[in-house]
This record gives sequence, structure tokens and C-alpha cells, in this order.
Amino acid sequence: MRMIFIGPPGAGKGTQATALVQRYGIPHISTGDMLRAAVAAKTELGVKVEAVMNSGQLVGDDLMVGLVKERIAAPDAAKGFLLDGFPRTVPQAKALTDAGVQLDVVLLLEVPDDLLASRVTGRRKDPETGTIYHLQFDPPSADIAHRLVQRDDDTEVKVRERLGAYHAQTAPIVPIYEEAGLLLRIDGVGSPSEVAGRIGAALDRHTNR
Ligand code: ADP
Ligand code: ADP
Repeated sequence: MRMIFIGPPGAGKGTQATALVQRYGIPHISTGDMLRAAVAAKTELGVKVEAVMNSGQLVGDDLMVGLVKERIAAPDAAKGFLLDGFPRTVPQAKALTDAGVQLDVVLLLEVPDDLLASRVTGRRKDPETGTIYHLQFDPPSADIAHRLVQRDDDTEVKVRERLGAYHAQTAPIVPIYEEAGLLLRIDGVGSPSEVAGRIGAALDRHTNR
């Protein structure tokens, strides 16, 4: 199962990815997580991308395409993968097609802009387990609350910048996958379990058609 998850920042891609990768036994490949790990480790890549990520802009296509091609060539991705955060531009989508990657499905998680700022600014992550929480919508238990961390780019100002990048540079990839008959539009408004139910039902319909 080779699948792509598209959606604006804070739509719930990471949250929903956990159940999907379990269902299909595939790795969750989040380019945002890969870049953040490189920044934290101060690798050559991390040093190169840190300022761009902090500005809410997108990292260059050539760099991203190289990174993803290498990752999906790894043995654990041989039977499939869930790509989260890539492709994010038309050239990135074209590069994936040109590399001969055969996709099974593309999920588009749709959430209106006015709901996204609160999702993003309340987001916290447990660095020990990787679990994503939300201060209001999915609060952590008291015993772990102290160790949760917030992303540097999860501020009100930067989410506006990132949403601008999404609409200008990422939304144009949607018609490519729609025309290829791969796109499933999922309403991302509602509780995480409601959204998970919609994704499961849409995938069942898609794979049984
Ligand atoms: P993305 O990976 O698309 O940027 P996340 O999965 O990290 O988004 O979700 C962003 C924030 O919103 C997180 O704090 C998460 O706990 C919360 N969240 C995810 N899904 C929902 C939902 N359906 N309703 C309310 N909050 C949600
Ligand atoms: P979000 O939670 O907003 O969906 P991500 O964690 O996917 O964000 O990405 C965080 C940042 O990493 C982006 O704002 C961008 O700077 C960079 N990034 C991640 N994936 C890509 C990509 N495919 N192309 C360009 N930049 C990327």
C-alpha cells in the first residue's frame, strides 16, 4: 500500500497516520519529522534547513526529492509507505511520478483555515513516546504533561505563513491526483475517532471497487 497524506498544517495527518500504518503494516514517512530530527542532531542537512523551517516557508524541491527518494528505497518501504508532508509542490509530485513510484491512494484531509490555528497552537508532543496531544482537544494526563514539547513553528504568526504556503504551493497538487483517480477527500472536522471512521470507510470503498 503506497499512500500519500495531504492536508494543511494541523489538519490531523500525524494523528490519523498512527492507525493507518498499523492497519497496513507500512512505515510512516513524515518529511517534517525527518527534517526536525536533522535539525535536532545538527547534521549538515539540519543546519541547512533550520532557518527556512522556522520561517514557515518550504525547503527547496531538489533537497526534498533527494531525501524522499532515498527514504522510500529503504528495505522497510519495499511493501509500501504512508508519505506525510510530501509531495508539497507540483515539482515534488512530478518527481515522484518520474521516479516511477506507483501510488495506490492519496488522502486529502480537509479542514477549514479558521479551525487550524487553534489546532496548531495547542499541539504538544511527548518526546518519549512520539504521541501527539492537544491542550484542549486531546489533553495529556497530569503525570506526563510536564515533559511535553511544542514545535518552534507552532505559533499563531507562523501558522499563518505555513497556511499561505499550503494554499499557494501545495493545494495545486490536488488536481494531479484527482485526475489520476487516486484522490479521496476526507472531512477532517469532528473528533479524531469520527475522522478515523471516515478514512477507514473511504479506503474500504476505494480498495473494493
Ligand atoms: P498535522 O500532522 O496534519 O499537522 P496533527 O495530527 O499533528 O496535524 O494535529 C494537529 C493538532 O490537532 C494536534 O494537537 C492534535 O492532537 C489535534 N487534532 C488532531 N485531530 C484532531 C481532531 N479531529 N479534532 C481536534 N483536534 C485534533
Ligand atoms: P505541518 O505540521 O505544518 O504539516 P510538517 O511537519 O509536515 O508541517 O513540516 C514542517 C516544515 O518542514 C514545513 O513548514 C517546511 O518548512 C518543511 N517541510 C516538510 N516537508 C516538506 C516538503 N515536502 N517540502 C518542503 N518543505 C517541507
